[in-house]
Amino acid sequence: MTSSPPLQITLQVPAKINPQLRVGPPRQDGYHDITLAYQAISLYDILTISQNPHGPTMNVSGMDSDRVPHDQRNLVIKAAALLGAHLGVKPHLHFELVKSIPSEAGLGGGSADAAAALVGCNILWDSKLSADELMTLGAHLGEDVPFFIIGMMAIGLGHKQPLIRLETSGYKWTWVLAVPRRGLSTKAVFQEFDKVSDIEKVYLNRRKECLETPWGTTSPESLLSALVNDLEVPSTKMLPDISLALQLGKTAGAQASLMCGSGSTCAFLARDGDHAKHLKNSIQKEGIFREVVIASGPVEGVKVL
Ligand code: ATP
Repeated sequence: MTSSPPLQITLQVPAKINPQLRVGPPRQDGYHDITLAYQAISLYDILTISQNPHGPTMNVSGMDSDRVPHDQRNLVIKAAALLGAHLGVKPHLHFELVKSIPSEAGLGGGSADAAAALVGCNILWDSKLSADELMTLGAHLGEDVPFFIIGMMAIGLGHKQPLIRLETSGYKWTWVLAVPRRGLSTKAVFQEFDKVSDIEKVYLNRRKECLETPWGTTSPESLLSALVNDLEVPSTKMLPDISLALQLGKTAGAQASLMCGSGSTCAFLARDGDHAKHLKNSIQKEGIFREVVIASGPVEGVKVL
């Protein structure tokens, strides 16, 4: 006997961090070559999807909900519309999104929510698309979307190229994330990157190094020198608070300080949970961040609760 699909579904989706982000020169189409390592971390948005003949409708609450669109511009509704068009189904659904992932913070929140919508609608509509098919669709919504469907650790090569899934062997990375009051637009950061960088010659070596790093199978402590983000320079130029934050983390004793994605969040690598609490307290005392949270990785991608 086959069971019928549920009428309502709740999913959790993690944020991401990029332990390494390498950017190449702009291409003819204006986009950049990019090579980046991904790690999914334990900071989650929660999405509940239910039937609604008047849908698509949506309600957003929680972290930064006032900075996120509540209508068709939200990536959740865009994802449902894309999958619906692919299947020939109208998205008569209501989406209840509770955010914990800060917005415009380089943690991939919008893309994560889009991945949750794709996985959730695939179940509610009983369409049985595979994870790979959902990832291919997701790439049309944003470069990071496919990663959230699988989570854990992966390497991305940009331009809708398939993700390289990385083997993991149980090493836990404990991060303290400090979110500055101002966010940064990814597009603006890349424009600034072109003004300050001339990296044509070094990029291919950097890509090779990223691909050869044993991200999932070596202790974080042995990879400290690999934690690099090429967007740190342009982002810091646009928001000097970032360099202040990175310095603060080092002074507080972090093993490494790293900007997340295109910023503005800064991540500090702790030795373990107790060290993370100590770092969090020292960083919070400075009073310059809108949020300081502890999260660890790698964790799995979108999960039905
Ligand atoms: P990335 O690292 O992928 O560039 P980010 O973490 O810096 O992303 P997001 O939080 O994903 O930034 O927000 C990027 C933009 O997407 C914002 O302008 C926001 O208004 C819009 N957006 C659309 N849908 C969502 C959503 N569900 N959650 C957050 N932002 C969303």
